[in-house]
Amino acid sequence: MKAIVVGSGASGATIARELSKNGLEVLILEAGGNFKPFTRHVSWSEPFRKLGILGSASNINKIFPPMNSIKSSPDLALFRGITTGGCTVLTCGNLVRAEEGLHHIGLKLESEFQELENLIKVETFPENRWRPLSREMFKSAVKLGLDPESTPKAVNEKKCISCGLCELGCVKGARWDSRNFIDDACAGGATIKINSPVKKVIIEKGIVKGVETGSILGKNTYKSDLVVLAAGGIGSAQILENSGIETSPHLWADVVLTMGGIFKNAKMLKEPPMVWYSKQEDYILSPYVDILSHWFHKPWRKVSINDRVGMMVKLADSEEGKVDKQGKVDKNLSPKDRDTLKKASSMASLIMKESGVKGPYIQGMYNGGHLGGTFPLEAADVKNMRSEQLPSGLWVGDLSLVPRSQGMPTMLLAAAIGLRVARKILESMPDAAK
Ligand SMILES: Cc1cc2nc3c(=O)[nH]c(=O)nc-3n(C[C@H](O)[C@H](O)[C@H](O)COP(=O)(O)OP(=O)(O)OC[C@H]3O[C@@H](n4cnc5c(N)ncnc54)[C@H](O)[C@@H]3O)c2cc1C
Ligand code: SF4
Repeated sequence: MKAIVVGSGASGATIARELSKNGLEVLILEAGGNFKPFTRHVSWSEPFRKLGILGSASNINKIFPPMNSIKSSPDLALFRGITTGGCTVLTCGNLVRAEEGLHHIGLKLESEFQELENLIKVETFPENRWRPLSREMFKSAVKLGLDPESTPKAVNEKKCISCGLCELGCVKGARWDSRNFIDDACAGGATIKINSPVKKVIIEKGIVKGVETGSILGKNTYKSDLVVLAAGGIGSAQILENSGIETSPHLWADVVLTMGGIFKNAKMLKEPPMVWYSKQEDYILSPYVDILSHWFHKPWRKVSINDRVGMMVKLADSEEGKVDKQGKVDKNLSPKDRDTLKKASSMASLIMKESGVKGPYIQGMYNGGHLGGTFPLEAADVKNMRSEQLPSGLWVGDLSLVPRSQGMPTMLLAAAIGLRVARKILESMPDAAK
């Protein structure tokens, strides 16, 4: 049987790999082009950003085309990777088990987490390669009772040159991304078509018949009895809406706010971002030089990259946000989100202060890059990993299915969801192999 998988990010790549391994004829349709990392040093931008010539964050895709930004409210921007590998090519390489709200609906992903961790080799980044200030801030976090720990990472320490630019793509191939799984899928016979944004699923009398793609290059139709949407929390929702299937107004994004401080010659970019993290109830704290704020946030302009220190707050935000047919997103920070961010950012500033980092401690931009919740599973859907609302032959296999925000890195969760969905597809059609 022929299967169309839409998207090549964490979930799509995992699904394509699993279906192809089990004998299905897989076609991956990817909206973006082949990923290319950013190859200049960040210092290239210093004169431009000081003069404000870089403009606002919506210009990111002029500097770095694979990164797409959507302004969802006056002060919140959402980022995603529209390219082969999706958001995984932009990650800091953190690989942790996030499963907030899943046990509550009866979904336990331990076996998928374990299997994927074995495949993607997880290791922490050795402390002797952390920047001295990161070590100092770790000690301060311990003193403050925040129980920090080394972040599990999908980064090969031997290949890593500590350039600090993981989110602009890893030029050394030291950090895992889902293109590895796409390669496995293609080795098993799958094919990938890039620059092929899916507009809608073709459904006749409640049965899936294929998909329609469309770009400036024209429209195309691909026939198939099985379509799996893994275009991410925004992409899958947009396709569902255009296919006449209503999505949920519960988009979450794990909003990030970085507090910036100053430490002469800290050179925080000379280590991978987020080498340690501290998990609190609704957020994590982690050392992080926020390159987007460095480039585009006016209040951060005066400080050079060598002296800039950042402490990130990643929040489990309120699940409130809606995607429309055009892919426009309406999402704002709720009063509860703003309260928690205020409390968490004081803690971030305190860690820096205790470590000798000078103020003024200035907020970075609000942004979010973990996108889910737009087609959430309910307890009754978990057995088949599928809502009865979907027509025959259509599956959703990404973070859209996850009802709660995580406030934690979500790449492993997205892959685990994809793996479980792929196995349910195979279970539901035992004769589907070539
Ligand atoms: C800057 C950044 C840093 C991050 N860092 C980390 C980290 O360190 N650790 C971590 O665990 N998580 C991290 N994340 C989050 C993590 O990468 C994502 O949660 C995860 O990749 C989501 O997987 P997904 O398959 O749901 O979506 P994605 O990975 O976004 O994949 C969706 C794919 O679908 C494609 N697509 C979209 N629309 C269409 C369409 N209409 N037709 C065809 N294709 C389409 C996209 O181009 C993309 O390839 C980060 C995210 C960002 C943005
Ligand atoms: S810090 Fe290491 S893993 Fe990250 S982009 Fe640079 S070389 Fe790659």
